[in-house]
Amino acid sequence: MAEGQGGAGGAAGVRAEAESSSERRTQPAMSREDCVAGIRSALKHPTVRFLREQMEKAGCKVFPSLILAANCSSAGGYGSGEGIKVCCNHMTLQDEINQVIIHEMIHAYDDCVGKNMDWKNCAHHACSEIRANHLSGDCHYKRELLRGFMKIRGHEQDCVRRRALMSLKNNPYCSEAAAKDAIEAVWNICYNDTRPFDRAP
Ligand SMILES: [Zn+2]
Repeated sequence: MAEGQGGAGGAAGVRAEAESSSERRTQPAMSREDCVAGIRSALKHPTVRFLREQMEKAGCKVFPSLILAANCSSAGGYGSGEGIKVCCNHMTLQDEINQVIIHEMIHAYDDCVGKNMDWKNCAHHACSEIRANHLSGDCHYKRELLRGFMKIRGHEQDCVRRRALMSLKNNPYCSEAAAKDAIEAVWNICYNDTRPFDRAP
């Protein structure tokens, strides 16, 4: 059932958000039709298919009902019981749609497979953001260069930290200090937890 897209204060309360719009280059968004078509074609992306298979194997609820086209303030989001939303008003390229869906699917995977996942817990949310940013390729150097972050050495881990912190700032249960502490506290375990991949793709 597609009941997502609720405003702030929905039942889930805390959402695991993808990249905020502040990191995007300014280009006109694609049309709603192109975005919906882009979501459909993202479902054929090998990483998306792999994640879907792994979630099905684990008995998790998966799309098409899981993924919604929406208008929202970031690139995408995931909420327990709401599924994944792709913010079409921020999408300019197919690659961005693929990235958002892969990122949010990692959150959906963690929510389903992780035992007692609590998005109000900073450490739980931090762990899932580290995994989502690491495993989705959000921090691949080519994407970092497009964003204007040119430093190469150590860039990947810096990028994962930066973007995890950005998403945690949207969590009303994590102060910035708590978010930073949580990221460091769970870093080694969660950065090295590449499930369901054998290693970071
Ligand atoms: Zn996220």
